[in-house]
Order: sequence, then C-alpha cells, then structure tokens
Amino acid sequence: MIVDVDLGKRSYPIIIERGLLEQIGPRLKEFSVGSQVLIVTDDIVAPLYAEQVLTSLQTAGFDTLCYTIAAGEASKSWEMAGQILSALLSHQFHRDCTVLALGGGVVGDLAGFVASVYQRGVHFVQVPTSLLAQVDSSVGGKVAVNHALGKNMIGAFYQPLAVWIDLACLETLEMRQWYNGLAEVIKYGVIADAEFFAFLEQHQTAILNQDDQIVAQVIARCCQLKAAVVAQDEMEKGLRAKLNFGHTIGHGLESAAHFSGYLHGEAVAIGMVLATHFAVETGFCSSSDEKRLKKLLQGLKLPITIKQPLTVESILSGMALDKKIVDGKWVFILPREIGQVDIVAGIDRKAIKNLLERQVPKHD
Ligand code: NAD
Repeated sequence: MIVDVDLGKRSYPIIIERGLLEQIGPRLKEFSVGSQVLIVTDDIVAPLYAEQVLTSLQTAGFDTLCYTIAAGEASKSWEMAGQILSALLSHQFHRDCTVLALGGGVVGDLAGFVASVYQRGVHFVQVPTSLLAQVDSSVGGKVAVNHALGKNMIGAFYQPLAVWIDLACLETLEMRQWYNGLAEVIKYGVIADAEFFAFLEQHQTAILNQDDQIVAQVIARCCQLKAAVVAQDEMEKGLRAKLNFGHTIGHGLESAAHFSGYLHGEAVAIGMVLATHFAVETGFCSSSDEKRLKKLLQGLKLPITIKQPLTVESILSGMALDKKIVDGKWVFILPREIGQVDIVAGIDRKAIKNLLERQVPKHD
C-alpha cells in the first residue's frame, strides 16, 4: 500500500508492507543518495531488526554505521543529538549521506533532528517500528529533541525521503505500546473521519487481536489522514494544529508525571476525554459523543481518567510549556462532533484549572 505525502518538491511516499526491512538497501538505491548511511536505533529495537537492515544496505553497496541509543524518552535530548553528530563527523560522513531512523517515535524525532542540522541538512529516511510511529510520528516531518524546560522545544520541520512501514515489526511490540499507538489512531477518527471512528468501533476485537488486514487498513487510513492535513499546512500555521487534539492536557500530564508515569498515547487518551468533556460543558458537542469516545478508548484498553495523585498546578505548568498559548490564553482543539474538531482560541486558564480540579484525584 502506498500513501503519498503531497508537498511539491518535497513530496514522498509512505509504503506500508510486510517484509520491507529486507528491501531497504535496494529501495534506498532508487534515490540519488551517497554511499554512507547512518542507522539510528535503540537498544530494544537493535537486537530485533538492525542486523536485517544492515545486511540489506551492505548487500546493496552502502557503507553503514549503526548508532544505538538507550530506549526511552530521556534519549531524545540535545546531548544525545550532539553525540550522534560527533559520530557522523568523526566517521567523516559527507553531505550526501543518509540518516535512517529505525525505531519508535523517540528514534524518529531524534534522528530526524540530527539529519536536519548535520551539514545544514542531509537525506533522511523513516523506518518506524512502533504503532505510534507508524501512524503518527514518522509522517509529516516534525523532528525534535526535548529540553529540561519543555518537551519537543528544539526542533524543525524536516521531511524524509520516504517512510517505510514494515507491518512485521509490530509483532514484537509490547501490548502496552500497542494500546499506546491506538490512542493516536482514535484521535484521527475524532478529528477528521467519523466513518473511520465507526470502523474502529466495529473492529475492536480484530484490532486487539492484531488482525493483519485490519491493522494494515488502520495504519494506511491514519497515514492518509495525516498526509492530507500536512499537505495543506506543513508548518502548522493553522489546520495542522487539529492533530494536537488531546495533546495539551496530555503533555501537561506527561510533564507532571515526569515523563515516566504515562506513555504518550495514554496521556493523550485522557487529554482527549478531558478536552471533550470541556467541549460538552461549554455546549460545543453532545454528551453522546463523549460517551462514544470514552467507550472506544476503554474498549481499546486506554485510560480515560487521571489515576495518579498529580497536582493541578503541576499539570497546568506542564501544559503552559506546550507552545499553545496566545496572549496568555490557551488554544484548544475541541470536538464539534465525532469526525470534526475546531481550533478554539482564547480559553481562560481558570476554566481549565476548574476542569482539572474536578478530575484530579485528591491525595491526603
Ligand atoms: P518510543 O520510541 O520510546 O517506543 C516505545 C517503546 O517501544 C520503546 O521502548 C522502543 O524501544 C519499543 N519498540 C519500538 N518498536 C518496537 C518493536 N517493533 N518491537 C519491540 N519494541 C519496540 O516511543 P513511541 O511511542 O514510538 O513514540 C513516542 C515519541 O514520539 C515521543 O517522543 C513523542 O513526542 C513523539 N511523537 C512525535 C510526533 C511527531 O509528529 N514527530 C508525533 C507523535 C509523537
């Protein structure tokens, strides 16, 4: 299956197939790139898949170097980017080299950031291996590292040459990581496609059982929906912000829990519920849509309430770092109905504080 991301000269294909890892060498040969390839991966993915990719590249005549980071969000840092850049320099990688991200969203964001700044930009390819990366982070060219003062605060828009999604990689993903990716899948249904939302409702069992055909359809639809948004608003001047549905509160929760209590998708799931609840309370959308969203999230094993004893202030502080504040007021993505969201500016901090105070469990 091929989904095109239409960005004029920077257009690229997303190819979704089983067994793609073995074809990476010949596929990369089709592009006019130099012979040097740096694979960036992590220490969970490397033992599973790096050998296959290295062999494919070497057989096709590429000179390869593999840089393995420790798995986890803490590696998505300025310091780690610096270390990878040093490796590129010390191994004399040229301007026509390629950086290939083999892993989840952490690897993709980090490797893409490195590719965007090394010698003012070198070729970049995404080989996402987690569900979240396959349906979301590998598409659209947002690359970044975190800073102690905020997540994704240092980054760029930098499009890959191609995204190669090998469905076989999902077989080794832990179930919690699988559910984590499903939060972003559900998000697409709410923001842009009521029919897709209904499809997810109907195929919950097949999705939980990782039915090959259904999974391929789900991934392709998510990529299509994201590609369509990115094609219209690559630099997030407007429409693309809709993809952030659930993310402002989600980032607040991740930050308040010091990026260890919630996986990204889990926090986004709760963020979507709270944003929707706010939309219901302010007359934006109906409570029946809120019920449908909660039911689907729960059905796909995602949390819908805050369980940890976090303070409201710590969540609000985390949210304030989320680049979504204009003139001291928050911009929120609120659903009108399943399949349609609006970008709503001018939301008062007090209103969100009030919402959170009713949701955060009290601790003695
Ligand atoms: P991740 O990269 O940490 O991967 C999750 C875990 O799964 C890791 O432990 C990883 O080693 C493991 N893993 C990955 N593929 C595997 C496989 N096939 N088999 C076994 N284990 C595997 O996290 P993620 O959930 O993939 O991505 C989250 C990151 O993505 C966050 O940093 C978030 O900010 C970012 N993100 C970026 C965008 C974007 O547009 N750039 C969008 C959404 C999220």
